[in-house]
Amino acid sequence: MNLLWLQGLSCSGNTQSFLCAEDPELWEVLDGYNIVFHPALTYDRDEEGVVRDFLSGGKELDLFLVEGAVGGNERSLCGKPFSRVVRELSERARYVVAVGNCAVFGNVPALMSENVSGLQFRFTERGGLLGKRFRSREGMPVINLSGCPIHPSWLSYVLLSIQRGKDIPLDELGRPRELYSHLTHHGCIRNEYFEWKVEAEEFGRKEGCLFYHLGCRGPMTHASCNRILWNGVSSKTRAGMPCVGCTEYDFPRENMLETQHLMGLPQDLPLGVSKRGYVLISGVAKTFAPERLRKRLIDEDK
Ligand code: SF4
Repeated sequence: MNLLWLQGLSCSGNTQSFLCAEDPELWEVLDGYNIVFHPALTYDRDEEGVVRDFLSGGKELDLFLVEGAVGGNERSLCGKPFSRVVRELSERARYVVAVGNCAVFGNVPALMSENVSGLQFRFTERGGLLGKRFRSREGMPVINLSGCPIHPSWLSYVLLSIQRGKDIPLDELGRPRELYSHLTHHGCIRNEYFEWKVEAEEFGRKEGCLFYHLGCRGPMTHASCNRILWNGVSSKTRAGMPCVGCTEYDFPRENMLETQHLMGLPQDLPLGVSKRGYVLISGVAKTFAPERLRKRLIDEDK
């Protein structure tokens, strides 16, 4: 299967992440694909010549991956604005995959220009470059892999599923359900601190939950970061850094490392939790929190 990967307005973070794929290894994932162009893996190939071949129908386009946002003051390719080339190639592709939050929702580049968007979204608005009704030749909307950057295994899942002819069920934002049905909160080792409302005092500490003051979006962010660990061992919250919600359509937000409060309550409550329920449960939890949760896990003075 012919695979084409182009970069729009991007920092290359998703390429860098994907090059670290190790479970399975990058080469195992790409084994069944003919990588016709990728900005890092085939850097010495003639990008324009390759794209021209696909545009003219001289080569069948099976899998088209786009990294980065599109539109605005962008580069040109084959004498056309980059976004026009992306639109034309998307119509020819069997599958289109938006790799990373910029290609999915627009992210930072879309904050800087109104004319920049993701492939089928611009933040919360549906449409983007290709429009709400876009379907690839296999009848699928853009397969959205949001994240800043994505975990390499998320793309491996998509590539291997396509290669093996398996269905990829998507959620309402076009993201694979297998990867985005859980919340970052699921699998976080700080859940007990969350339940008893024991707050982390600073970043990088082993103890405490980062939701109450340090901005953690784990309870409202769809991502498998604590289920499919980074480098096989860790995640932001495991390392003492709040989840910043980088897989969601409202990323990036202002003041991401602090929790916004309204009348003493976190402005955004865990998904599906009512204000009343939160007040009732968190008040009781804080009062009865076990004493051991207030102590250091490893007493460094001993
Ligand atoms: S640190 Fe974040 S993800 Fe972990 S338990 Fe607290 S709110 Fe949930």
